[in-house]
Amino acid sequence: MTQKISILGSTGSIGQSTLDVLRNHPEFEVFALSGHQNVKALSAQCQAFRPRYAVLTDPDDAASTAREFVDLGLDTEVLCGQQALQRIASDPAVDTVMAAIVGGAGLQPTLAAVAAGKKVLLANKESLVMAGGLFMDEVSRSGATLLPIDSEHNAIFQCLGNQLEVSDGVEKILLTGSGGPLLRRDLATLKEVTPDEACAHPNWQMGRKISVDSATMMNKGLELIEACWLFDLNPDQIEIVIHPQSIVHSMVQYRDGSVLAQMGQPDMKTPIAHALAWPDRMESGAQRLDFSTITELRFESIEVSRFPLLDLCRQVAGMDQCYAIALNAANEIAVAAFLEGEITFTQIQLIVEFAVNSTVAIELLSIADVLTVDQQTRALARQRISEGL
Ligand code: NAD
Ligand code: MG
Repeated sequence: MTQKISILGSTGSIGQSTLDVLRNHPEFEVFALSGHQNVKALSAQCQAFRPRYAVLTDPDDAASTAREFVDLGLDTEVLCGQQALQRIASDPAVDTVMAAIVGGAGLQPTLAAVAAGKKVLLANKESLVMAGGLFMDEVSRSGATLLPIDSEHNAIFQCLGNQLEVSDGVEKILLTGSGGPLLRRDLATLKEVTPDEACAHPNWQMGRKISVDSATMMNKGLELIEACWLFDLNPDQIEIVIHPQSIVHSMVQYRDGSVLAQMGQPDMKTPIAHALAWPDRMESGAQRLDFSTITELRFESIEVSRFPLLDLCRQVAGMDQCYAIALNAANEIAVAAFLEGEITFTQIQLIVEFAVNSTVAIELLSIADVLTVDQQTRALARQRISEGL
């Protein structure tokens, strides 16, 4: 039977990889796409996949794209704004939702898919970092099927026997990370790192925000928090291991000493195809590993002084949820400011630390409370940047 899919953030790196996988699978029908301000890319995707809906953020963009589609004789209806994202995520006609918007902007549409009981393919790790407790409660309440797309979490899911449940037999999780482009960089020159250097990841092609997060290893820290929620673990059950080749995507260690690893090319088409086909398997279009050419699989422990944000994330993972909201919000503001050339690479850390230290925990009864803490922290971080730190 045909599965109908909505892709939130289809014009991004994960969104494009998802469409690359789907191109060879007519058993999936693209129901809706969304592209924020990427008008041209979204229009081209609509012409190729002919979805029922397309969502842009700006009403003028939506109006001009709708006119373009009329001229092209394309039936796709163009919608705009947050409500529209929630609508395409929860439409009764939809079976599967790929949650691939970057940052906190992905929280509400992803939650709308969860609340509607969809099969949710979760790339947007920020929604679990911001609202893990409320999010997982909603998964239980609605009966949604949650499948991790982040390559590490997808690997752990596979090593747990294709499930989120962690049995008593599991001793610990080994979350691997390449160490990013600055693994060997002279620490004294970190403040001179440019946006292009920070985004030049040695193994993965990704959007710019997550690329900077990989350079600071904030990404691994966010993934630690993500893993705690997804697999219901304490931070001390998760060890982070540097693995520069990005071939082992993560591992699970069992009580008898067995360690199961999932391997593959550093290509997101593999976890995407895994989740799309789950509990079966399907062709992803990713290249295969060639063991006659792999000369080295190396593992190292982390140099903590090089990646202070990773340490902060580990502390925050064991604290009240409000600190994780603040951590994520300040990081988004700081990374955007770094990419705009407003602050240096090493100032990202200062802003995030400042925001976490300034946070006063409140009781989070609803997503509205989460968004309040998020907005307050963003304002605080922006103010700090405009004051020149
Ligand atoms: P990206 O920047 O390439 O794409 C982001 C998508 O979100 C685009 O379609 C963009 O138009 C849309 N978007 C951006 N801001 C928006 C807003 N305010 N409102 C609505 N839509 C908005 O990002 P990406 O690299 O594809 O990452 C997407 C998510 O997947 C992130 O949460 C990231 O952490 C996660 N992830 C990505 C990778 C990867 O390889 N790229 C791997 C693991 C997890
Ligand atoms: Mg990852």
